[in-house]
Amino acid sequence: MKKDTNKILHGIASAPGFAIAQAHIYLKDREEISDSNITDTDEAVKSLNEALAKSKKELNKIFSLAIDKLGEKRAAIFEAQLMILDDPILISNIVKRIKEEKKLPEYIVDDEISKYQQLMNLAHETYMKERSHDIEDIKNRIIRNLKKKKWKSRIESDVIVVARSISPSDTVLFSRVNVKAYVTDLGGLTSHASIVARSLSIPAVVGLHDSTTLIEDGDLLIVDGFHGDIIINPDEETLNKYKDKIERLSKADKELRELKDEPAVTKDGKEVKLMANLDLSEEVELIFQNGAKGVGLVRTEQLFDNAESFPEEEEQYLYYKSLSEKIYPETVIIRAFDIGGDKVLPVDLKEPNPFLGWRGIRLLLDNPNLFKTQVRAVLRASVNKNIKFMIPMVTELAEIRKFKMILEDCKEELRKEGHSFDKGLKIGVMVEIPSAAVMAKEFAEQVDFLSIGTNDLIQYLLAVDRVNEILSPLYQEFHPAVIRTLSHIIKEGKKAKIMVSLCGEMSSDPVAVPLLVGLGLDCLSMSVSAVPMIKKIIRHISFKECKALAEKCLSLSTEIEINNKLHIFFTNNVLTTSEDFLGEIQ
Ligand code: PEP
Ligand code: MG
Repeated sequence: MKKDTNKILHGIASAPGFAIAQAHIYLKDREEISDSNITDTDEAVKSLNEALAKSKKELNKIFSLAIDKLGEKRAAIFEAQLMILDDPILISNIVKRIKEEKKLPEYIVDDEISKYQQLMNLAHETYMKERSHDIEDIKNRIIRNLKKKKWKSRIESDVIVVARSISPSDTVLFSRVNVKAYVTDLGGLTSHASIVARSLSIPAVVGLHDSTTLIEDGDLLIVDGFHGDIIINPDEETLNKYKDKIERLSKADKELRELKDEPAVTKDGKEVKLMANLDLSEEVELIFQNGAKGVGLVRTEQLFDNAESFPEEEEQYLYYKSLSEKIYPETVIIRAFDIGGDKVLPVDLKEPNPFLGWRGIRLLLDNPNLFKTQVRAVLRASVNKNIKFMIPMVTELAEIRKFKMILEDCKEELRKEGHSFDKGLKIGVMVEIPSAAVMAKEFAEQVDFLSIGTNDLIQYLLAVDRVNEILSPLYQEFHPAVIRTLSHIIKEGKKAKIMVSLCGEMSSDPVAVPLLVGLGLDCLSMSVSAVPMIKKIIRHISFKECKALAEKCLSLSTEIEINNKLHIFFTNNVLTTSEDFLGEIQ
């Protein structure tokens, strides 16, 4: 049967670029259970025992970390899961059924544990119903371990991945098989999967709601990551139009890269330092190729592949040291592990509100041994004096003080052990929570630099979940409260004579850049792939005009007015003076 052509879906344009390839539907959550017959039941029972032991080991690790700081009550969900693993009646039932029915253990496990869940779902208390979801977790964990699942082998090369949602680690994993683009039902612009897609220069469209039902495996897709369009089974004419666009874009890309040795300086001589955000080891090579002046944010929680435990001091030290050497003489700003929120590593704790939960510096101060491992590694790697260190999710001065005490402890230990390090290591804080923005003056007095994290700042200031696609129209980077807050932080930082940079996704938004320059930011840090284009924009604008633009925007009281003002400025000052492909991004 001939399929419909040119069906268009529209979502959130989360990573720019065009791609044409076949769809690969990736439904991670749906574990496929086979009820095949088996002959060797002893072997099946052995696999079951191994999978139970592995699940237990994983859960014990999670449980001990959780009990330590979440307290017994909240850690109890893991205890309940562990109890299931130890339930002699359940286990002996599963073993008995494997032997009698001669079916794959995954089938029997699924069936037996689902019975538990059905019982709980029948209960009237919400509490019991919620526990049934926890049990889903343990069931999937055992089944995954039974299947010794490796997602990697299930994705073919050169496809467009279509999924309900995708995790940052999936994004990385799939990039290794040359995935052409990502299309997801859930997610927003600043979800970490989108950020990783941008850093890998893989086009992505998110928040489509029902792409996984409307697109079929093997459909030919065009993904337009500039405008958020997906074209399913395009006709010949549309296909040729996009092939032509891809060709023109790659030519323009080459021209942009030729700017790599030119400074990012406005027409009237103001230099803006453009740095790169580093999410993946693979990006290091691109930093100089794209002309970035060092690394303004290393998301350390994304770098280490090991999903089950935190990297040891030595592993971290070697990594940071080699990074500092590769980037030398430019600077590398390493951020302490920002675990929690949508970046879940390495434990899958279930929190009712993860973004308002145990995240960033809170989790690190609660786990001083873990934190010290990182601080010591950073200090030891700092001998070339081009490393700076900053902490995420700070809400109060006490956190900065506690961090400084840990830093001093680590210095003292290293001195005694005879290690060398940069005694004047510069430290900073991320300003990404409204309380930190309000306290910018006091914070600035405590540290050497401030780095504004607009991804979170906007989320917390406007109370809009950064990864919830339903709310994406409310996630407004040009909300008057956002730009007034930015102005306040920058002014306080300047008064204290310290560097203020911005490392959220806003710094790679072409339309936002004149405003950010006008507000007085001296440094912007962004996905490495965005650096050439932002440099080009800065070279087209005048600081004097940007300042006037920022003043005007600060006086406006609605997002629509500010948005219009910025688009008009962009059209008049950037588009008219530059090649037409910049029109694609508006
Ligand atoms: C931010 O919040 O803007 C930021 C840069 O940090 P992350 O996106 O890693 O939370
Ligand atoms: Mg953040």
